[in-house]
Amino acid sequence: MNKENISILVISNDPDTISLVENFAENILHSDLSLSVCGHDCKDIQKLISSEYIDLVVYDLIDLDSMTFKTANLLLSNAISILFLIEDENVNTLINSDLDFHLVDFLRKPVLKGILEHKVEVYLKNILQKKASEYLLRAYDESVIASKTNLKGIITYTSQAFCDISEYTKEELLGKAHNIVRHPDTPPEVYKGLWDTIKAGNQWRGEIKNIKKNGGFYWVRVTVSPEFNYNGEIIGYNSIRQDISPQKYIEQVSLIDHLTQVYNKKYYDEVMKKEVDSASRYEYVLSLLMVDIDHFKDVNDTYGHLIGDKVLQQFANVLIENTRKSDIVSRIGGEEFAIIISNDTMESACAFAEKLRKSIASHQFEVVNNVTASIGISSYIKGDTVETLFKRVDDAMYEAKHNGRDCVVRV
Ligand code: GH3
Ligand code: MG
Ligand code: MG
Repeated sequence: MNKENISILVISNDPDTISLVENFAENILHSDLSLSVCGHDCKDIQKLISSEYIDLVVYDLIDLDSMTFKTANLLLSNAISILFLIEDENVNTLINSDLDFHLVDFLRKPVLKGILEHKVEVYLKNILQKKASEYLLRAYDESVIASKTNLKGIITYTSQAFCDISEYTKEELLGKAHNIVRHPDTPPEVYKGLWDTIKAGNQWRGEIKNIKKNGGFYWVRVTVSPEFNYNGEIIGYNSIRQDISPQKYIEQVSLIDHLTQVYNKKYYDEVMKKEVDSASRYEYVLSLLMVDIDHFKDVNDTYGHLIGDKVLQQFANVLIENTRKSDIVSRIGGEEFAIIISNDTMESACAFAEKLRKSIASHQFEVVNNVTASIGISSYIKGDTVETLFKRVDDAMYEAKHNGRDCVVRV
């Protein structure tokens, strides 16, 4: 048996019965099993069960009066198991009492030691099993962000963990539409996709931003599964979620590309917006370079993805070593890097691009030795947006590919 706290109460005035249970309990007694003894005074018993946690009562029935049955009913209604010890002539009275017939279990007196031991042991095993499943249910309730809805999306069950993260109480959530936690930032198409999937009987997985009661938000990775009845009809939906708010936060505030340690696309987007805005207002020269590694797929195919990653890291270093502090190098795609050069003439930006191309081509990369890149370059023209400038540079880069790679194309 697992070690669990189990507490047995013996209600008896009979020294023989008490010592019988005590002797048995001593044999199996360990630090997590406790035994208490109490006389027949119903007030004492009631006091005891209101102050102590009890799993099993061995109840030596002497008086079969209404007070005794009232006390027994109280024990049963507290989910406490009772094993009655009873004189043969009283068995009928017990069976015909108002106690729940299914819950009445007894041994006839005089009780044989072995039979009592066997009975109590069966009870202890059941109690342990019950405790283990209660523990699991509690752990699930406290740690799994779970809910159930009916077909219309009305919440019919919620775990405590769901209440904790959404800051609603169970009462506030039950009976409400699940969209009570819908955040306006999550596009309606996401929910449409979700509903289309689950209504068709399939499982939906995705990441969703939800709103808390106080207006704050949290991110969850959700799995929504339809629940079916015996006829295969959908009767509701079950959701379990994992809190991914910390990851999302890091992703969103991070401006650095994890692999290469240069800026990421998010930072590129932010800077380009500001730079294009400034270039349009103050008319200074803004140049954009797109640097795309040639035949990089072959590197992966020949040497494997890990070596490919190392090449990307070394490549990013070459870019950093060849640029000035004011130039902004970012990884905007798998093997595509953008360099933003502000306040420099187009001519010198082009000269820089050519110098960079040569530095890349002559760099000794570990394992793969040589790598080349195709570069597109253009400068801001009045009326440009971030998109139009990008498109010109992208087209220039593709033209460089078309021209045989390892070259610079300026537009
Ligand atoms: P091209 O000269 O036309 O640019 O050919 P390419 O093979 O470089 O271009 P393509 O777009 O066909 O392939 C890009 C490859 O880059 C495919 C993809 O597996 C690889 N890639 C993208 N991101 C990463 C990454 O983070 N690590 C590694 N190792 N490979 C990546
Ligand atoms: Mg490429
Ligand atoms: Mg590419």
